[in-house]
Amino acid sequence: MDAKPRLAVHKFSSCDGCQLAFLNLGVDLLKLARIVDIVHFAEAGPVAPAATVDIAFVEGSISTPEDEERIRLVRKNSRYLVTIGACATAGGLQALRNRAVAADWIAEIYPRPEFIKALPTSTPVAAHVPVDEELWGCPVTGRQVLAAVRGRLFGVGPAIEDDKVCLECKRRQAVCVLVTRGAPCMGPVTRTGCGALCPHLRRDCYACYGPAENPNTQALGQRLADLGLSRTAIARRFLSINNAAPVFRDAGTSWQGDGNGDA
Ligand code: SF4
Ligand code: SF4
Repeated sequence: MDAKPRLAVHKFSSCDGCQLAFLNLGVDLLKLARIVDIVHFAEAGPVAPAATVDIAFVEGSISTPEDEERIRLVRKNSRYLVTIGACATAGGLQALRNRAVAADWIAEIYPRPEFIKALPTSTPVAAHVPVDEELWGCPVTGRQVLAAVRGRLFGVGPAIEDDKVCLECKRRQAVCVLVTRGAPCMGPVTRTGCGALCPHLRRDCYACYGPAENPNTQALGQRLADLGLSRTAIARRFLSINNAAPVFRDAGTSWQGDGNGDA
């Protein structure tokens, strides 16, 4: 019998939430383990960070000198490299430090800053090595990771999901929270993939799946201003989990207030 394809799940600068998407698969994870060899997945047990694999899933951004070195090794040892989550695809919440002088923050927070080895920026994996597929979300879902494994094993290209959350609301018959409740929903500029989870629960979307295709950030910003949000509050809607995704970064920067009580 042919050897099974080998799979690894690597963690970089992240909260581990996207790795939980694998663990939350439950029975499907056991089925997956029958068709692939999971050779490295520290959170679940197997540890072999330098193993060569067919598919490497990478969670987390590149934010330390050690990350920079290790991601090159992961790339060298993997046939396919798939990033999972906002940290790995856009730099994550930790990329907020790209907008400040990181050394100043470190000096304020840590009593012994000289022990902290951090790069001045937090950047996506694709800024360092070639990436074969990017899965957006914070966190990603089990459905996304299983689809990526299936696609890679059977030679099917990734199904790009970059429609807006609004479209998913219509498909799921979720009532629009922006129109009916005046909630500052980011659905009109955010890519789907979550099944419009938050609007379906009558909450506004906060853009955890990153920018959709052709997002009209200026129009949405103006709509949020008409709802009564300040410039700073609008900027913060864009400068959140995916603050370093270029289209959100630029929109947030253009709406940013002067910081003098404009909150
Ligand atoms: S994308 Fe979100 S859930 Fe995933 S590792 Fe980053 S912070 Fe955690
Ligand atoms: S509705 Fe928005 S914030 Fe909620 S899970 Fe989906 S993309 Fe994330």
